Amino acid sequence: MAKKQEDLMQKIVSFCKRRGFIYPSSEIYGGFANSYSYGPYGTELKNNLKRLWWKKFVQDRVDMVGIDGPILLNPRLWEASGHTSGFNDTMVDCKGCKKRFRADHLIEAATSLDLEGDIARMAKALKEKKINCPECGQTNWTEPRNLNLMFTTTMNGVEGPVYLRPETAGAIFVDFKNVIDSMRVKIPFGIAQIGKAFRNEIVAGNFIFRLREFEQMEIEYFIDPEAKWEKLFDWWLKEEEEFALALGADKKDLRRFEHPKEKLSHYSRKTVDIEYNFPFGFSELYGLAHRGDFDLSQHAKASGQDLSYFDQINNRKYLPHVLEPTFGVDRSILVALCTAYHEEEVEGEIRTVLKFPPALAPVKIAVFPLLKNKAELVVKAKEIFDLLKDKYFCEFDDNGNVGKRYRRQDEIGTPYCVTIDFDTLEDKMVTVRDRDSMKQERVAVAELVNYFNNKFSN
Ligand code: ATP
Repeated sequence: MAKKQEDLMQKIVSFCKRRGFIYPSSEIYGGFANSYSYGPYGTELKNNLKRLWWKKFVQDRVDMVGIDGPILLNPRLWEASGHTSGFNDTMVDCKGCKKRFRADHLIEAATSLDLEGDIARMAKALKEKKINCPECGQTNWTEPRNLNLMFTTTMNGVEGPVYLRPETAGAIFVDFKNVIDSMRVKIPFGIAQIGKAFRNEIVAGNFIFRLREFEQMEIEYFIDPEAKWEKLFDWWLKEEEEFALALGADKKDLRRFEHPKEKLSHYSRKTVDIEYNFPFGFSELYGLAHRGDFDLSQHAKASGQDLSYFDQINNRKYLPHVLEPTFGVDRSILVALCTAYHEEEVEGEIRTVLKFPPALAPVKIAVFPLLKNKAELVVKAKEIFDLLKDKYFCEFDDNGNVGKRYRRQDEIGTPYCVTIDFDTLEDKMVTVRDRDSMKQERVAVAELVNYFNNKFSN
């Protein structure tokens, strides 16, 4: 990682802990396996991000419905989808320092060869290319072997292992029949879901980029198998990019990576990743795959149920094909943090400011009485807080001088601060201060709700 970018990543990690966005989890017990908790501001940010996605992809569209399926599903689902046999990554251990690595990542970092899924070639490359252990420098490796990424648990009354879902998509396919029977959906239409997914990643890391417990926002978009799909595929790619731009991403930090034909799963016609230029380099942010009718046909076969769709307009019965746009919540949060984080010099001091798009900002408006020991100012400020809080998540802060309070709100990305001073008691106006320009203006209390409605609707 380039020095400057590495610094940025470290700054973001420590900033997130210090300012209540993201904490290392189980810290009082020495931490736990690269897992993280979202703190109070991080939780608001994440909820805002998910709300934005849900509005764009479900509520604003007539061809989408949303579901919320369980994490624990009938294990036969994962047999049918191929996950129990094929959802593997390849690991290798350094015999010297005993550190474990994902073999394809290790080889790719050293040689630029992408051997993901090809265990024989990985074994050969490890021997022939004399790949050094990034930890201790030795070249003494165990044989690479596959590890299934699904977490298992047990359930009372159920024989054998039960899996924590490794992706949210499975729950969508098993509900397909219920959705077409209970809703008046017509092809083409999509089913969306946001929720947790679990993968026993060989190496988690890069903060919240690769977690073992993470969240996904996924869509299965069902189409007529005879329909032309190429334009629609491209349209979904643009939608994914548009969502990343709405988080604040710069266009130049986004690129597409099309999976080469020979590496595609047998059922996929096309798979493209949207990659983002994270501080550690371009890596997958979102994905889009044409999965044909693989999932529905597998589940139809394994369950013995008819999962076909009757197209009344064309009087045809078929198993729909599916386009699968998939978005990682945590990777989206990382994009939002990396793009929002700024350090600026203001009057000889460094101000840290998170320039979140307003829709993402954890707190929308902060309300301050100029002085906390003047009851009349505090009462008035509480009135203003009550006036705004119904519509906007507000924070009341009376601690320290106003300059410090501004800095605190800049740090968590609050777009506006409202200060109630002695003049307010006379002229019924307050000072509104803008996070990005730091400009202040006087606004009449009677106009305040309108003022913010205009600001936040832009
Ligand atoms: P990678 O190649 O980085 O392991 P993947 O191709 O396995 O990712 P998908 O199966 O396509 O990922 O998962 C869909 C989305 O879920 C990804 O685009 C990403 O945003 C998110 N995601 C996948 N694995 C993780 C993880 N371990 N931690 C956080 N987010 C993840």
